[in-house]
Amino acid sequence: MKVQFLNLVALYDSIKPEIDENIQAVLNSQQFIKGPFLDEFEAALASYLGVNHAIGCSSGTSALHVALLACGVKPGSEVVTAANTFFATVEAIDHAQCKPVLVDIERAAYTLDPNKVRTSINENTGAVIPVHLYGRLADLEPLIGLASSHGLPIIEDAAQAIGAVRNGYGIGQRSACATISFFPGKNLGAFGDAGAIVTQDDTVAKHCRQLIDHGRLPGEKYLHASFGYNYRMDALQAAVLTVKLRHLSKWNERRRQIARQYYSQLKETSLILPIPDDGTSQSVHHLYVVRCAERDKLQRYLKTNGVDTGIHYPVPIHLQPATKEMASSNGPFPIAESTSKQILSLPIDPMMSDEAVNYVCLHVRAFLEEIGAQAACKETSLQPVMR
Ligand SMILES: *Cc1c(COP(=O)(O)O)cnc(C)c1O
Repeated sequence: MKVQFLNLVALYDSIKPEIDENIQAVLNSQQFIKGPFLDEFEAALASYLGVNHAIGCSSGTSALHVALLACGVKPGSEVVTAANTFFATVEAIDHAQCKPVLVDIERAAYTLDPNKVRTSINENTGAVIPVHLYGRLADLEPLIGLASSHGLPIIEDAAQAIGAVRNGYGIGQRSACATISFFPGKNLGAFGDAGAIVTQDDTVAKHCRQLIDHGRLPGEKYLHASFGYNYRMDALQAAVLTVKLRHLSKWNERRRQIARQYYSQLKETSLILPIPDDGTSQSVHHLYVVRCAERDKLQRYLKTNGVDTGIHYPVPIHLQPATKEMASSNGPFPIAESTSKQILSLPIDPMMSDEAVNYVCLHVRAFLEEIGAQAACKETSLQPVMR
């Protein structure tokens, strides 16, 4: 058996007539920039997420960049975020001419450690960006208290977490705004690059709309209130996303089922598994990330048996060639570093069959039996890298 990491062809095949029809409608209209297809998607997205505003963007990265500007984060200020995120989070901070200040994560949740956020805030801090890694929402509760006492906006990097819920709230409902990525491999994937900002705040929304569209005044073609960017979402992407959004709840529910299946079949092994969903937190399981002390061997073993896996992410931000100075300026990041060597993303995808999940579990267990206790992720193996 072969198990792909993500089967986008099968996903497309399952809704092909609907998608093709809407793409054809855009082609017939020849309205590729702004227009009714974008309006329709933005309204549907805002309604799906229960927020007042959704603003389509060209990518998740441009959404984060504009979100920082629209929230009034000044050039030169520090923006606090997680050391284990995808590179784009800190790139967007750099685009806004701000300085990323990394903090370490909580070991089980892989999201910002609020105590470390507290000690990182100073008079130069301009914003906090929690990253809802792997589709599970970071706990905003302690961050909201912290941020409001310092007058700081919280901007959620929800690139991986569309549809996730924690304490009864979804993304963008309790922060200044949240940004989403519709990169093809995300839970709601476009046919190319796309992203969005969602917010309850009228002023932030207005500012975002202006910035993504050359600083244009609302409804004006040749009047520009400020310099902005060409960061709009294409109508073709909006048309694809409108159709796919109708299926998102079902797809996210299927991911939850698969996560439960993985949990029940692997919970007795030595692997460290993602925190299961409960009454307070419902993840959208963008990735199903397990930890194994013999991660590389496990990955090779699965590959040999036809199972594709991934590593998200193998190199923490402060160890990137581009950003190495961050290691000394606000490290160490022992948890981000040690987990990066042990994490392995198992295949999870709404089109995955129960048989495929069983097959993956069978081979994970066979590997663990073969190598025995070495695979255990003991706390003692989680020492920081010293240098
Ligand atoms: C995908 C992703 C982004 C960037 O989104 P793009 O649409 O690729 O620009 C940012 N942050 C995180 C956590 C992501 O996973």
